Amino acid sequence: MAPSAMPIDQGESTSDLTSSGISHTLAKTAPSTTRSLHPANGSSSPLAELDASLLTTSAECRAQKTCTDHMLTCFWTASHGWHSPELKPYGPFSIMPTASVLHYATECFEGLKLYRGYDGLLRLFRPDCNARRMLASATRIALPGFPPEELLKLIKKLCATDGPKWLPRSRPGQFLYVRPTMIATDAALGVQKPKEALLYIILACFPAMDENPKGLSLLASQDDTVRAWPGGFGYAKVGANYGPTLMAQGEARRRGYDQVLWLLGNDGKIEVTEAGASNFFVVWRTREGKTEMVTAPLGDKIILDGVTRRSVLQLARERFQKDAEEGVMEEVQVSERNFEMRDIVEAVEEGRMVEAFAAGTAFFIAPVSRIHYRGLDLSIPMCEAGTGRYAGLLKTRLRNIMFGKERHEWGVVVEEAA
Ligand SMILES: *Cc1c(COP(=O)(O)O)cnc(C)c1O
Repeated sequence: MAPSAMPIDQGESTSDLTSSGISHTLAKTAPSTTRSLHPANGSSSPLAELDASLLTTSAECRAQKTCTDHMLTCFWTASHGWHSPELKPYGPFSIMPTASVLHYATECFEGLKLYRGYDGLLRLFRPDCNARRMLASATRIALPGFPPEELLKLIKKLCATDGPKWLPRSRPGQFLYVRPTMIATDAALGVQKPKEALLYIILACFPAMDENPKGLSLLASQDDTVRAWPGGFGYAKVGANYGPTLMAQGEARRRGYDQVLWLLGNDGKIEVTEAGASNFFVVWRTREGKTEMVTAPLGDKIILDGVTRRSVLQLARERFQKDAEEGVMEEVQVSERNFEMRDIVEAVEEGRMVEAFAAGTAFFIAPVSRIHYRGLDLSIPMCEAGTGRYAGLLKTRLRNIMFGKERHEWGVVVEEAA
């Protein structure tokens, strides 16, 4: 079967980020493996794989206000595969007015941060997760596949190039935002699987958004507005998920809220999914008197598999269990399961709500102090320090890993030229 006739896989593999899931996805999308899918067509010229070692560099820079001096670009064509990546001065692209991305939202992206540690080193936080998620997102919208390790090498290369100047060692504790992006650039208006794409990576200056002493206030989404739905693409970081949320986000801002709390369902059952472009957690006491930390599950493919979310879950499971065993803290059950808006309302009304927070790269871990839902103003507890107790513990630990105060495999050092 020719790759172009292949349906986009909506099965397990597109959001399966395990290594077997990745190879499965790659087997369907990567140029090198595409060959073996049609061995009978007699074509002997292999398509080129994304290869970071082919990187070329050109000098000359203009100073930028929002992005750093350089960017990394790499073209892909259906006939050749991946061309040599190029490191060059940050600047505009030119694409045809008919480019697929401008009409059909054939775009996906990633967001991670480059941190200047207190030990003087530059680090990325679990960037392998972002590279794999980028592959999953690209696959969902028929953009070409690539080995995630090659993307990671390119990300590191750009970070090593601009990191020393934009995150000087003299100013530890600062970060840049890393934005890998892929767009389909085919100059053709037909709705079809892209034959040309551009992968690029930029580094942007970005404000710290987690220091809001008042906590986030969330406006629950209206009945007639949903962010993602079963069988859709809410689990993919594709541009098409974001533009359509801006009306709701604008409405929330106008009414004095920071973000939208995205709900899904109808009157019988209204589930809580995400907050803005962050995952959402609550900590409450159950009616049985247990403490539970809960967030929506990945299985329905409605929510994004956030790197912060995963890390919070993993650390919470390790840490809270250990603390409970040592008698330092009561036991906390950590759950990935569906929960409803009604559960939040009841927990607040019955005084069982402990805390809530949004978790994502942009906002990091941001405590929530207020949720407005159908005329109800729900007040969510926070400690005096502007954070909940559990969120505070997790945030400190994660920040220590990001900024090199704690050595951990999640903090991946970027080697700089001496
Ligand atoms: C990016 C994003 C997140 C957070 O993911 P991280 O990997 O933690 O940054 C959560 N939800 C949505 C919808 C997102 O776009």
